[in-house]
Amino acid sequence: MGSDVMRVRLHLRRMRVLEVVSDTPFELVVGVESSVRRPRCPDCGSGCSKTHDVRVKKVRDLEASGRAVTLLWRRRRMACGSCGRRFLEDCPAFEGPVTARLARRLVADAMAMPIRAVARRHRVGWHQVNELVKAWSALVAERRRSRRCRVLLADETSIRKRHRYVTVVVNADTGRTLAMVPHRSTAALSGFFAQRGHKWCKQVKVVVTDGSPAYRSAIDARLGHAKHVLDRFHVIRWLSAGLTAVRRDVQRQHRQPGEPAFDPGVFQARFLMLRRQDTLTDTDRARLDGLFDAHPKLRTAWEALQELRGLYEAQDHDKALQALDRFSDLYLTGQIPEFHDTVNAIIEWSDETLAWHCTGRPSNGRIEGANNLLQVLRRTAHGFTNPTNYQARGLLITRPPHRHRQPKSHTSAQGQFPD
Ligand SMILES: [Zn+2]
Repeated sequence: MGSDVMRVRLHLRRMRVLEVVSDTPFELVVGVESSVRRPRCPDCGSGCSKTHDVRVKKVRDLEASGRAVTLLWRRRRMACGSCGRRFLEDCPAFEGPVTARLARRLVADAMAMPIRAVARRHRVGWHQVNELVKAWSALVAERRRSRRCRVLLADETSIRKRHRYVTVVVNADTGRTLAMVPHRSTAALSGFFAQRGHKWCKQVKVVVTDGSPAYRSAIDARLGHAKHVLDRFHVIRWLSAGLTAVRRDVQRQHRQPGEPAFDPGVFQARFLMLRRQDTLTDTDRARLDGLFDAHPKLRTAWEALQELRGLYEAQDHDKALQALDRFSDLYLTGQIPEFHDTVNAIIEWSDETLAWHCTGRPSNGRIEGANNLLQVLRRTAHGFTNPTNYQARGLLITRPPHRHRQPKSHTSAQGQFPD
């Protein structure tokens, strides 16, 4: 016997090691059997001592010192003395053809790398890893959906840009993704609400979405009791569109032969103009004033945008309405027809925009964070074609960061629940 020999424990609950079948630098094969003497009959519950026959089942375990570990489980088929039923014994440490701890590791690795890479690293099949991920994700989703959800966020993200989309639904109270439903239609969101049932829908008090008419009709149909709020960042983008249109118009004018095709000063200040007024330094202000003196229309548009932003800077609903009044006074002078689309959007979505003040000022920030993670996932996976697989992995990775908990013992490591 060599000098590098040691005795190690397998740490598998209710398992006994019979023999080491193969111990090479590449693999370790160990024969094991259950240490439970009288397994319980699943029908009548009595302990059975009569073994009908024994079958050997291969179970893959975590690698040990870089070697693949296979357990040869002598699995007994018992014959019940009371009811005569024959049944295969079970083991809590095994989940089908892998140990529970290897299953946890495969799922954890699938959060950071493609399924193919996980399968290759642990020398198991692609389908096996994928099935585990799907099963685990379904458990996680069920658990998340059982929690209270007062504020619901919904937004779209793409599987293939401009081709296929999924609707992402997030519980704003916990920050957890609840579902990723194929398509971005009324039926997609409506179907999710229908699946959750009337009682679940009733607890949702506020829904935040972007300006999608499809989502609006789903919410009107299923969550009529809840307050529908338009996401602030989407509204700000609409509001800024008017100023951008004016800026483009202004910078194209005054074209003389030999001059640049556009006014570089105006063009270079395009992001500065979109900044919030109270974040501008004195230098920024002076630069903007210079531009506004040269192009008075730009000043009017910029001031109009500041009034529109007042919608959100206002302390309450009434002050927001006052800001809107001041904007309409400016708009009605007819100097900034470029804000036409913005005005139409505000009129169409006024209830949803102003509801922001009386619903605790919710935002879609958490869903945008989830979308960002989903984009990273799409890249690492080199794209998805199957929305079910996308949802399974998407649900697992989109969770807010929390303190890493060290398992206290091997028992808790086996039962650890990624949420
Ligand atoms: Zn029985």
